[in-house]
Amino acid sequence: MMTIKTSNNLNLLALLACLLLPFLATAQDFDNIEITTTPVRDNIYMLQGSGGNIGVSIGNDGTLIVDDQFAPLTNKIAAAIAELTDRPVNIVVNSHFHYDHTDGNENFGRAGAYIVAHDNSRKRMESTQVLAGSGRVQEAYDTVGLPKITFFDSMRFYFNGNAVDIVKTGNGHTDGDAQIYFREANVIHTGDMFVRYGLPFIDQSNGGTMDGMIDALMNIGSLIDDDTIIIPGHGQLSSRDDLLDYRAMLVVIRGKLVRAKVLSLSPGEMLESQPADGYAPPNENTNGWLLRAYEEYTGQ
Ligand SMILES: [Zn+2]
Repeated sequence: MMTIKTSNNLNLLALLACLLLPFLATAQDFDNIEITTTPVRDNIYMLQGSGGNIGVSIGNDGTLIVDDQFAPLTNKIAAAIAELTDRPVNIVVNSHFHYDHTDGNENFGRAGAYIVAHDNSRKRMESTQVLAGSGRVQEAYDTVGLPKITFFDSMRFYFNGNAVDIVKTGNGHTDGDAQIYFREANVIHTGDMFVRYGLPFIDQSNGGTMDGMIDALMNIGSLIDDDTIIIPGHGQLSSRDDLLDYRAMLVVIRGKLVRAKVLSLSPGEMLESQPADGYAPPNENTNGWLLRAYEEYTGQ
């Protein structure tokens, strides 16, 4: 009897530990995150910590940031910005609605910043969303964290000496992606339409499509030139060539998926043909990505 009880208690403890550890680990992670600042060009900087890259424009008109990472990092992000300027953040542009780019919205909104995003991104932030692949649930934001200014096709700010074009180039990563192009500085923040890790996340559950991403990347490539510095959604500063290489990878993989469809390959047979060979390791993540992309073409 005693033994059973102890074992039950131990099981309970183990269960509690399993439930609590992820939260402790998360809190710990944010404690240990440092925000690094990289000068990009002129008065534009990139901040990196955890989550999407942050673009910063400083000057006489105030401080505009593109994306704001995770809420627990807001103070660190504000401190990193304070090293550059004494003007508070008055505009936050969201490249899209995903939490790793917008979780700081409520903090910055409460502090008085205007939040700007594509209208579809605002709509998604108004209610609970489930992301493709991971199935991660993103809760709705309070009104203070929602974009007050939205656009549909494009809009332009004149801010800190730049014409800042905020454009939608396609339904790629989601259905509400914005690219933010600082014309005079010739710097663009692409959000997650372009990232520096293997296969890009395409959020099919929230309007993202592979065809849309491929088209959007060509549109971005047409907008910029060889001198443009790209702040990608994640990863290091890049060039137009990097963006076009990345697009070429997607075109090759799409070609193989479409070929598999023409051959009426089952999803399993498609995986065996290794459409991402040479671009991504043949593991569970790659397979999940390929299955979701294949579904876009087969409707299976
Ligand atoms: Zn994203």
